[in-house]
Amino acid sequence: MNLPEQFRERTKVILGDEYESFESALMSDAPISVRVNDAKCQELPDLERVSWASSGYYLGSRPLFTMDPCFHSGVYYVQEASSMFLEQAFRQHLDVEQPCILDLCAAPGGKSTHLAQLMAGEGLLVSNEVIRARVKILAENMTKWGAPNVVVTNNDPSDFTPLRGFFDMVVVDAPCSGEGMFRKDPASIDEWSVDNVKLCSERQRRIVADIFPTLKEGGLLVYSTCTYNREEDEENVRWIMDELGAEYLPLELPAEWNIASEGLGYHFFPHRTKGEGFFLAVLRKTDSEGTFRIKPAKPSKGAQAVKIPAVLSEWIQSPSDYVIRSVADGFTAVPKAWATEIGALESQLQVVQAGVLLGQVKGKDILIDTALALSSILREEAFEVADLSWKDAVAFLKRDNLVLPELAKGWVLVRFGGHPLGFVKNLGNRANNTYPQAWRIRMEADGERYEPFLK
Ligand code: SAM
Repeated sequence: MNLPEQFRERTKVILGDEYESFESALMSDAPISVRVNDAKCQELPDLERVSWASSGYYLGSRPLFTMDPCFHSGVYYVQEASSMFLEQAFRQHLDVEQPCILDLCAAPGGKSTHLAQLMAGEGLLVSNEVIRARVKILAENMTKWGAPNVVVTNNDPSDFTPLRGFFDMVVVDAPCSGEGMFRKDPASIDEWSVDNVKLCSERQRRIVADIFPTLKEGGLLVYSTCTYNREEDEENVRWIMDELGAEYLPLELPAEWNIASEGLGYHFFPHRTKGEGFFLAVLRKTDSEGTFRIKPAKPSKGAQAVKIPAVLSEWIQSPSDYVIRSVADGFTAVPKAWATEIGALESQLQVVQAGVLLGQVKGKDILIDTALALSSILREEAFEVADLSWKDAVAFLKRDNLVLPELAKGWVLVRFGGHPLGFVKNLGNRANNTYPQAWRIRMEADGERYEPFLK
């Protein structure tokens, strides 16, 4: 690995005589880690734990995740271990039972799926990504994770400004110079320069300044980057405190975790902790900048009230906790407790999805959506079920039609290892596959290469 000379010099200043072990750690293989979805998998794996994340585990080697149906059913998320440190900020400082949280820079969804897990169905998570091309993978990953209390948006940070005082917590996992990813993504080495560090630092300040008014007084800002340098990390934390009005909140951490701190935030170095480079700081907003007045949305004039098919509420658990709404692409279930806030978000932002898409009316039938199968609110008893072999599960994920002659005709929920993957419409001689075209497995691989690590 050819590190830029200026990066070496600058990091030596930070690490002193630890620098040599830092560089040799960069030459070793990056650890592989996953976060298990406890809403879908109650049996904990017998694997090495990530100390700072309750559902984080290290794998001894990298499996062919694409060929594991559990990967597609949202039973786990492949996530770099250091980034799971977000859990400590949530657990140690968020003191709101029904929090409203914004993950501003969310794609592909590592921190958003983690936040959804920590929220355990309570509160509302707004998961935003500004880059249109990246919002698709974010929406896919959030759908697979299956939490019903999530809204995915596609907005620039400045678009949120009218939502003053809306959020209890805002996570800014900022676009950065990527120093911490040198080992995992060697291409980031070529993109690194002192000028780029400066540009990133300035952009990070603009992003935080744009989003800061949306925090309540006393609300939490979690600021993170995957860098080591002070311009993008400590200096930006200091700037937020001084210019925007925030106090720094320390975390209580066992010394054996080996996480470094110079006072304003926490650094993960690959020679000290098992993971990539990462930085995180928690701040509390000290001022009030006003509050957005949420008005219940009025039905637009002349709009025809769409009849909600009664069967939809039979497909979800605790239907009285949800509002089933008619939207452009079908019917969705959103948490009743947050329906007004979701309406407010829809009036201000580019909402890509809200809640759980249940299905679309097609003639006399309702085309059931894969999102319902993957959601934690699915009522499995409402459906005929087919438990597939690994071979059939992969065929389903490739969008091949299945043959299920022993099952009744109609909608069938397909599962692998007890975990729902999607729906087929059984016609008797074949079962039509409704898995989303964009999500299908395109890879060809044989069964021998599949080694499940979750039993
Ligand atoms: N939080 C994500 C996760 O855990 O999976 C990773 C986020 S990545 C470090 C930073 C994200 O910020 C990228 O998805 C990138 O597209 C987005 N981004 C880039 N420019 C931005 C900007 N000006 N404002 C907000 N987000 C931006």
